[in-house]
Amino acid sequence: MRILDGHNDALLALWRAGAGPEGFLEGGVTEHLDLPRARAGGFAGGFFAVYVPVPGEHALEDLVVETADGYEVPPLAPLDPGYARRFAEAQIDLLFAIERASDGAVRVVRTAAELAACVEGDAVGAILHLEGAEPLDPELSLLEPLYERGLRSVGIVWSRPNAFGEGVPFRFPSSPDTGPGLTAAGRELVRACNRLRIVLDLSHLNERGFLDVAGLTDAPLVATHAGAHAVCPHSRNLLDTQLDLIRDSGGVVGLVFDVPMTSPESTRDPASPLGVLVSHVDHLVERMGIEHVALGSDFDGATMPASLGDAAGLPRLLDALRESGYGEDDLAALAHGNWLRVLAATWGA
Ligand code: ZN
Repeated sequence: MRILDGHNDALLALWRAGAGPEGFLEGGVTEHLDLPRARAGGFAGGFFAVYVPVPGEHALEDLVVETADGYEVPPLAPLDPGYARRFAEAQIDLLFAIERASDGAVRVVRTAAELAACVEGDAVGAILHLEGAEPLDPELSLLEPLYERGLRSVGIVWSRPNAFGEGVPFRFPSSPDTGPGLTAAGRELVRACNRLRIVLDLSHLNERGFLDVAGLTDAPLVATHAGAHAVCPHSRNLLDTQLDLIRDSGGVVGLVFDVPMTSPESTRDPASPLGVLVSHVDHLVERMGIEHVALGSDFDGATMPASLGDAAGLPRLLDALRESGYGEDDLAALAHGNWLRVLAATWGA
């Protein structure tokens, strides 16, 4: 079954390895996602994140500190806008270099029809996504040029403050209610993305920011990579009240596969069984209905369960869902149908 996926950090993984387009096309460089493993696992496309890392910091795990009842990454400082812009430009250039060198095997998609063609065929569709709006100026003069280049999705924040809003610090256990809502520039960003029909990704946003977007936007609410807070009370996961708003908007949650964000005790042990991901799907489906649940792996940006491994292991997750009682129609909706519906509704036909 062909799969659309809400989030990967393959571009960042290629940069960390100092690799060019061939690193993605020939494989063997990234940890979880490249063209050979996409083909092996039925990965038909997804959101390719342009993410700007904490300067000089290569592993978030190194920042984790223990707390009385769990752990946290202490609040991170905002990025320098010039650094964020230069870094993001290089990542965007790399994505287009991959497309050019791929001989049609990787396509940066701009419409739902182009993405649907990847699901029907055998190309990988890449959705250009900003994870954190730091590369944008608060006046948004850079948004439309990026849209013209192919930008179709914007995560307002990553897990740090920026000019537009405040992301949740990584914390367990924790509510996502960790700080103030959107800034005035953040509210303008929501309106501008609505005008251009760019997806607004709510992942990493704190609860007040989430509610601000829900009150402003005219598009379906989307969280590209998150889990159910009722199953794993991590700051990055969504409360039932947030799931209700996503359902009521016609939106979708892409289930993240990250072990610390999905295992109920927030373990970092990759031995976490696939049943943990199934339990998140069960909760999301029970709360919202199957039509609002999709996948959002976070390949190359998170700790994958060893039983899944990498993109080539995606069929094993579908098998685990099958074994727990999901039928083929439900799996088709979860694997690609729901993403296609929500993206068509947001981008226009
Ligand atoms: Zn993320």
